[in-house]
Amino acid sequence: MASYLATVAIGTFDVRTRGDLRAGDTTGPEEPHIDTQEKLQEAARNDAHAPVPPDSRVDDGQPADAPRAGGRQGGERRNSQRRAGGDVPQYVAIDPTQAAASRHVADQLTEIMDWETGLFGPYPFSSTGAIVDDTPDLGYALETQTKPYYSTPPDAYLQVHELAHQWFGNSLTPRTWGDIWLNEGFATYAEWLWEVERGDAGRTADEIFRDYYDGSDGQSEGIWAFPPGTPPGPEHLLDPPVYGRGAMTLHRLRQTVGDRTFFAIVRTWVAEHRHATVTTEEFIALCERLSGRDLGELFDAWLYEKGRPKLS
Ligand SMILES: [Zn+2]
Repeated sequence: MASYLATVAIGTFDVRTRGDLRAGDTTGPEEPHIDTQEKLQEAARNDAHAPVPPDSRVDDGQPADAPRAGGRQGGERRNSQRRAGGDVPQYVAIDPTQAAASRHVADQLTEIMDWETGLFGPYPFSSTGAIVDDTPDLGYALETQTKPYYSTPPDAYLQVHELAHQWFGNSLTPRTWGDIWLNEGFATYAEWLWEVERGDAGRTADEIFRDYYDGSDGQSEGIWAFPPGTPPGPEHLLDPPVYGRGAMTLHRLRQTVGDRTFFAIVRTWVAEHRHATVTTEEFIALCERLSGRDLGELFDAWLYEKGRPKLS
């Protein structure tokens, strides 16, 4: 693992493609690559399966996001040719030991990018992707900008969550850590929406909300420990209330203002604050502006008051 991360840190990584895998190279290189840019470029000239330099540099000197006609070996495609979510190039770097277990990642990434772009509005960056490692003991993924990091091959829900952070967290960044629910609430709510539209559990968003509220959803444990708008300290910034009750806050908002206004709020939120810092107060003000309603009571109950809010 460490050697692979070191590869990323020095600016080169092994971009595998579906084309490469389909060509029968299911195990990847014998050893993880740690190499210099110069060696990589030399290798690229001689070997169609050589690692490709990241984002802005490709071996033929063209910008990575320039349209590229055809693969270098009959029908193969590099990920720099894959485009998703409003037509951005996507790059998937996979630890060679995880290649077989990661066959789904690139297709799933394309699908989720398209879906989230439809929900949230234009993707805020010039490329997307995934880094799949072999670090099962790490225990978390990270929304690394444009290329989320996964400690093991991610399922769809994890990709939905980390890619949602490209809008909510990376483009729109909380001004203070107390606003972290704006990241995790939205990323968790994206998982709810994915379950409703693409998942196999068959629950509606109202049913997921109810399962969180009564504690029957496995993700709802600990969500009433504190109100998500006021995490009690840095050690609690990423605790269950910020995720679960944060998502519930958004769903309560949606139930109150209706679907049409809710999704207009979401898209306006990401458009008006693109690449900027944001606060909870600004979010509430936008919700009130677009709905024409006083929502103070709703947000007080769900973001700032202790205990489980009453449903009335
Ligand atoms: Zn998150």
